[in-house]
Amino acid sequence: MINKQAPVHAPMSQWSTHDGQLVVGSLPLTTLAARVGSTPFYAVDRGLLKARVGELRAALPPQVKLHYAMKANPMPALVQFMAGLVEGIDVASAGELKVALDAGADPAEISFAGPGKRDPELLQAVAAGVLVNVESARELPVLARASQQLGLPARVAVRVNPDFELKGSGMKMGGGPKQFGVDVDVVPELLAFAAREGLAFEGFHLFAGSQNLKAESICEAQAKSYELALRLAEGAPAPVKFLNLGGGFGIPYFPGEQRLDLAPIGANLAALVERAAREMPAAHIVIELGRYLVGEAGVYVTRIVDRKVSRGQVFLVCDGGLNHHLSASGNFGQVVRKNYPAAIGNRMGAPDTEVASAVGPLCTPLDLLADRMELPVAQVGDLVVIFQSGAYGASASPQAFLGHPHVTEVLV
Ligand SMILES: *Cc1c(COP(=O)(O)O)cnc(C)c1O
Repeated sequence: MINKQAPVHAPMSQWSTHDGQLVVGSLPLTTLAARVGSTPFYAVDRGLLKARVGELRAALPPQVKLHYAMKANPMPALVQFMAGLVEGIDVASAGELKVALDAGADPAEISFAGPGKRDPELLQAVAAGVLVNVESARELPVLARASQQLGLPARVAVRVNPDFELKGSGMKMGGGPKQFGVDVDVVPELLAFAAREGLAFEGFHLFAGSQNLKAESICEAQAKSYELALRLAEGAPAPVKFLNLGGGFGIPYFPGEQRLDLAPIGANLAALVERAAREMPAAHIVIELGRYLVGEAGVYVTRIVDRKVSRGQVFLVCDGGLNHHLSASGNFGQVVRKNYPAAIGNRMGAPDTEVASAVGPLCTPLDLLADRMELPVAQVGDLVVIFQSGAYGASASPQAFLGHPHVTEVLV
């Protein structure tokens, strides 16, 4: 029995159903599965991507630029679609840079962050004319050489490891000792070097953390990031044009989590935009979002190939699992495994339910997609749906593990 007092998943109200079928990209799920031709697959709904960007535009001041951090989902068709909806694309490798450029993203609005950028990747970035978010003193002389070789001044921003943390974040990526960015006290010497070498300094990048559902924490991090950038701008060789205040907007994955309230974040950013107009008049404020833009617009769909009962517990054995969806299995950064919201996509709202576990085909108990959830009674051939799967799916999973076919990805 499921304890009725237990916290529940946020409703997946972005999706509709028709005749007991989940509707994805205007198609009933069984039709979509037939169209895709095989299971498992990921499907991301264009309409939901557009709707999400629309909600953000309505809540945030118009001066704030939205960037898509494409590591969340680097599927080329999706990156191309997003490039038409947001102002810029953030890449974290030369591989991602290629996808962004192929997608037609404007190089002027691409930024390249990430630790351990290799020398050839930095040369590629300068040749492409994208902004490099410098994360180490080592990168600057490499960029200076690339500038000379190509006759193009490297466009640089300094990624600062802030002297504070993003409270309540699923993943902290700033504050304390970190491999990301440079510590605040090192920034002045980097700025001096950039000035000496004639690099095109454009601004600062601060990213405190990820997967945050608390608006107050995000507002606090953005305000502190702004203050820090303002302080560092005093020593900058040129006016700040680019001020990336990070993102970290989370989505509800687990029981008890609720959607982020954008209203206070919009108000806070409006105040910062107003201050920037006076204090850093050349600066554009940028917010970089990954999962918030794409996560809720995607589902993972896997077919039940076997139904087993072991000592009274029902197992729905599916044709895909952690090899395609590591994060839903609980093995991508979670400390305690919890269930993503799930459904039987061709039996939506069916009254006859049972407690069942959906597992994948791998020979490891870690291959668990849904652990003892109340679901409609399902049979072999039915489609298990894992919601909130538009980000950190296929590209964040060990697809070669155990030699099963790779997952198909569609944008519908
Ligand atoms: C991963 C990452 C993001 C995206 O994080 P989400 O939680 O998907 O929004 C944004 N910026 C940087 C620097 C990152 O490393």
